[in-house]
Amino acid sequence: MAANPITATIALDAAGEHHGFLRLPYSRDDSAWGSVMIPISVIRNGDGPTALLTGGNHGDEYEGPVALVDLALTLKASEITGRVIILPAFNYPAFRAGSRTSPIDRGNMNRSFPGRPDGTVTEKIADYVNTALLPQADIVVDFHSGGKTLDFVPFASAHVLDNKDQQAACVAAVTAFNAPYTMMLLEIDNVGMYDTAVEEQGKVFVTTEIGGGGSATAHSIAIAKKGVRNVLKHAGILKGDMELAPTTMLDMPDNDCFVFSEDDGLIEPMLDLGNPVEQGDVIARIWPADRTGRPPVDYRSKRSGILASRHFPGLIKAGDCLAVVAVVV
Ligand SMILES: [Zn+2]
Repeated sequence: MAANPITATIALDAAGEHHGFLRLPYSRDDSAWGSVMIPISVIRNGDGPTALLTGGNHGDEYEGPVALVDLALTLKASEITGRVIILPAFNYPAFRAGSRTSPIDRGNMNRSFPGRPDGTVTEKIADYVNTALLPQADIVVDFHSGGKTLDFVPFASAHVLDNKDQQAACVAAVTAFNAPYTMMLLEIDNVGMYDTAVEEQGKVFVTTEIGGGGSATAHSIAIAKKGVRNVLKHAGILKGDMELAPTTMLDMPDNDCFVFSEDDGLIEPMLDLGNPVEQGDVIARIWPADRTGRPPVDYRSKRSGILASRHFPGLIKAGDCLAVVAVVV
């Protein structure tokens, strides 16, 4: 198979603080010998664990990029033992377009793993991360939020894994992140996800959903900034004590946590994020968008818990995820 064409403009193992790019050749109309320039920082001091930190896996989620450009600027090699590799905008073309997927190839980074060295731009980035960066990492943090179409209560999460030692290490790191909520996350379909690639390589993995709606708030960014430093301290990379506050433990035991719309229409939320919900409660009503004089359709929770996620735009289509109800542990 072809070699991956991405090259790093900085050494990935040099001591000190280094800021550069992953350069991906991308020939196109406005630049025959052009490149996609993906920002990367490497901070290293001595021998120790390596943390790989990524934001912008989806291009319309902002807590990760903000927390990671801030960390890249402020983290000094003298504060750490080991190495921190920072990619604030993993799917860089999507990030620059403010869209979930890449405007070049419509690639959804979190459905493109393990990628291909001779594939699309998105697949090449995925392959590089999978084969050149991930094998060097001991602990991995990948920031997500809801993007333009979902909103979440702020949580860090781990998945149920076959390897229970690995799962326990992930849960410990996720708990150290110390978001207001800590979730055992059930994925709708984990094929092609970065999460799955990271976990299959046996790494300690923290993922998040911190807000959404295609923007960020002072509150949500503070959660991301604190969380990533806590994880570096937990991993023994960053000196200092973790900053810890109470966290609510959440679980998604099965697919009854998801509520999908079977209607197109106008959403009337009946609950807000974080509100308690009983099984059978109406979460939202969906009104016909095209006429008056017809009643709305009630969408009810199949579980008791809290409203952990909701569809963000005011209009919804059949098949969209309307809500997620998580169980408080
Ligand atoms: Zn995402």
